[in-house]
Amino acid sequence: MSRYMSSRFDALEAYVPGEQPQDMRYVKLNTNESPFPPAPGVLEAVSAEVERLSLYPDPEGNALRRGLARRYGVEPENVFLANGSDELLSFAFMAFCDADRPVAFPAVSYGFYPVYANLYQVPYTEIPLEDGFVLNPADYCGLNRNIVIANPNAPTGRAIPAAEIERIVRTNPDHVVLIDEAYIDFGGESCLPLIQTYDNLLVCQTFSKFRSLAGGRLGYALASPGLIQDLDKIKYSTNSYNINRLTMAAATATLNRDDYCAANSKTIQANRAYTTAELSRLGFETLPSLANFIFTRCPRIEGGALYRHLKAKGVLVRHWDRPEISDWLRVTIGTREQMDIFLAKVREILKEAD
Ligand code: PMP
Repeated sequence: MSRYMSSRFDALEAYVPGEQPQDMRYVKLNTNESPFPPAPGVLEAVSAEVERLSLYPDPEGNALRRGLARRYGVEPENVFLANGSDELLSFAFMAFCDADRPVAFPAVSYGFYPVYANLYQVPYTEIPLEDGFVLNPADYCGLNRNIVIANPNAPTGRAIPAAEIERIVRTNPDHVVLIDEAYIDFGGESCLPLIQTYDNLLVCQTFSKFRSLAGGRLGYALASPGLIQDLDKIKYSTNSYNINRLTMAAATATLNRDDYCAANSKTIQANRAYTTAELSRLGFETLPSLANFIFTRCPRIEGGALYRHLKAKGVLVRHWDRPEISDWLRVTIGTREQMDIFLAKVREILKEAD
């Protein structure tokens, strides 16, 4: 750090993304990407757009917003586009939270939430999960502060029904409830229909997981027009061309092929059940997941050690040193072949530990 940086960031601890090795030597199960390529039609759509790269993109992203509105049965005024849902979260924290509008989120959840709270100097409360990392919706009812919940939660994979989300949204009418549905398309129940009833509900989704476009960076919010206008105000004060042309072309083409994405999701769900069952035979405890990853622990080998052994054998998974979860590994669900390699390496490691 230089001596020029503002001292208001002295205590800020930046988010640490999962490893992104550039040589691709690993079976990469550490950042919840799709193991499947982008949808058919994306390559052609992106290629056709290249000749227009000399021009700025549509700052309103109208074609894509119309496509998303059609897909979800809402109006384009209900849709906001962001450069990944990480940018969406950043804009939402900026727009809705401040010293007088503090925020609450689960104590074990997506690591970016406390980073944004610190970045924007927003007081925050981390609400403990119950045994087994279970989120109790009652803890969030009538809380009288903004709320951010990932559903399914990360890194646990556990989800709650939309009716429970509704209780939380209904009992906090003067605060924004942001539901981060990055992983909703792997078996969870979206609370999206509730945006028609509740003007304080902000639903965030992404093209990074279900739609195989993590490298394109596209997130979107679905909410009442008022919340969308608030996000627009922040966007046009930060980066009005936040979505590039190639990504918009790729995303529009992908939206036409949700059948492809849905078939991939079915495969992921089957591989999730398979991996969970195989790990159980090896004595692992795995939380019930409705996401494209599982949270699992081995009774015999500490999480950090297992992570390092797997990495040495060419399999990358995610581990955090935080004491509450240091026994656990988050393992992205990939193809059947990838999961078989992962399981084979786990078996080797267990044998070596005997
Ligand atoms: N929310 C959650 C819960 C996530 O796990 C992630 C992915 N790391 C994101 C949001 C951000 O996803 P993206 O910026 O790729 O849309």
